[in-house]
Amino acid sequence: MPDTFQQLADAVLAGRPATPDDALAVLRADDAELLAVVAAAGRLRRAHFGNAVKVNYLVNLKSGLCQEDCGYCSQALGSAAPILKYSWLSRQDALGQAAAGLRGGAGRVCLVASGRGPSDRDVTKVAELVGALKQEHPDVEVCACLGLLGDGQAERLRDAGVDAYNHNINTAESHHDAIVGTHTYADRVDTVEKAKGAGLSPCSGLIAGLGETDEQLVEALFALRELGSDSIPVNFLMPFDGTPFEGTWELTPARCVKILAMARFVCPDREVRIAGGREMHLRSLQSLALHVANSLFLGDYLTSEGQAAQADLELIRDGGFVVLGSPEERAQRPVDPAIRRRGAGTDAVPNA
Ligand code: SF4
Repeated sequence: MPDTFQQLADAVLAGRPATPDDALAVLRADDAELLAVVAAAGRLRRAHFGNAVKVNYLVNLKSGLCQEDCGYCSQALGSAAPILKYSWLSRQDALGQAAAGLRGGAGRVCLVASGRGPSDRDVTKVAELVGALKQEHPDVEVCACLGLLGDGQAERLRDAGVDAYNHNINTAESHHDAIVGTHTYADRVDTVEKAKGAGLSPCSGLIAGLGETDEQLVEALFALRELGSDSIPVNFLMPFDGTPFEGTWELTPARCVKILAMARFVCPDREVRIAGGREMHLRSLQSLALHVANSLFLGDYLTSEGQAAQADLELIRDGGFVVLGSPEERAQRPVDPAIRRRGAGTDAVPNA
């Protein structure tokens, strides 16, 4: 372990990957060292992503009514959380929801459906929706999150224009069976591998605050690095009343920042996304967290409300960040000289 977080950043920038001991040291840093951790992890964030923030927008295509028993989930079998429950949105409704997110500044739309996994008919439905969405918004990036995938389904989604597939490992393999009984950790990894194998960008992350140890958080992050997850949503448990985790409060704002910083040190060039629980757990440290994370969800989550989308955009702007893909962000991209292909020495008309 290097002596200081700056030395760790130097080493990671020089190409020496962080070790589990490095990650534990970040996670266990004293709160008095928080700014030192952020300053060091922030160098990695700036080296790979500058001051850009990727903005994602969730559309919950199908809410609740799930037969799986994930203990953290308000949509799970046995959950008494009083959430909205509905079956598949109509295509028109889904397009309308996605358009609202895009108008708000999102560059990626995440199409999510509750359930163990999609039937082939569900895949057809989502494929048709994605076709229509891309026709209306050709530049949108689409991520699908439909649960465990069967053979051939990832390829069908890719062919329909889906860019990425989300399936979180959620926690360490050594902790998985304590939070869900209806599917295994291996099932989850298999779906990430299927998405990757089909050429979809794998998006897989975790939930902190599920009773895991520090070592298990580190284990989960190294598993994500190993899996090659391109985007890593870091969720902070929202302990819904009516779920097994009701009343579970293990996180502080400073710990959440350290978890994000640890993710940055372990996976310096991956999209580290502040996901569910951002407002609830980071609270007034949301702004600090953007110095290490480079992505967030705009507006609401699947079953809970986030802060106003306008407040998310202010958070980005006030911190000196820009939304990825916005005119401000595009204006600051370096521009290569355009090689002349017209005028003298060519048959094309001169630029005059
Ligand atoms: S499979 Fe998905 S929707 Fe169903 S309980 Fe688990 S996390 Fe919730």
